[in-house]
Amino acid sequence: MRGNVFIRYGLPLLVALPISFLVLYPQVFWCLIIGSSADFRLFTSGTTSLYVNRTATANQQLQFRQHTQIAFDRIRRFWGDKRGRAILIYCPKQIDYQRYCAGGEGAGCSVGTPWGNAYLILGPEGNNTDVIAHELCHDELFSRIGWWRVKRQIPQWFNEGLALMVDYRFSNPTVWEQPDSSEQTSPFSEEMITPSFPQRPILTLTELETTRDFFGGDHTHTMLAYQTAADEVARWLAVVGRAGVPSLTNAISAGHEFNESYRQLERKRRKRIDKQEDAKSTR
Ligand SMILES: [Zn+2]
Repeated sequence: MRGNVFIRYGLPLLVALPISFLVLYPQVFWCLIIGSSADFRLFTSGTTSLYVNRTATANQQLQFRQHTQIAFDRIRRFWGDKRGRAILIYCPKQIDYQRYCAGGEGAGCSVGTPWGNAYLILGPEGNNTDVIAHELCHDELFSRIGWWRVKRQIPQWFNEGLALMVDYRFSNPTVWEQPDSSEQTSPFSEEMITPSFPQRPILTLTELETTRDFFGGDHTHTMLAYQTAADEVARWLAVVGRAGVPSLTNAISAGHEFNESYRQLERKRRKRIDKQEDAKSTR
């Protein structure tokens, strides 16, 4: 009887679920079969697979491999090691980029599946160290705490803010290269601070919890969202130091809540700093 119920209901459901997922997200389907596509050439860098569309010129291919290497090194320095295993896909033409990255917006995007596959898609503007490091940072978070926890627990402002720390179009590397420095540095490089942000109400973190909150508005809203996210993560990083990032993901992997762990790490670090200050003043 039980076997019959499984064959009648369980089995069709097991088949239907992944198919519906792929119908809803066709870009995932294209990513999954990238290995058998004749339109791409495969390169490897360590254990990472890089698929470069055959429309890329020899110069674009060379630059892509160089930018990828520099981005990998940046990720290793920031996280302590690199655990992300995403497959990189580079499409120099917009028409190809759109197929692999829904909507084809931005310079790059990440595609992940609940069962653990991860792809980073770089478009015509994505052959750039900052863009690649940004996407690799999203993948690093994904591989350390899993797709489900990223979707359920991590607010979008943190996911983006963290990626902006290795994306020097938007941030200053000294924020985390010397995180204990008492000198406060603006996370934004000079050209980002100036006129591109017209007068708008300042966003709060609670308004940037979901992907829709973050990216659902116009261009100015998204730029403000990036600025707010980068400011907050840079502020937190300046207190907890670079080691705070893997400490946070370890705590979340161990079952702790994001908000609680994020604040607790900062409180602990501040207490330690206060103790050191007291010891100094009583000397
Ligand atoms: Zn991002």
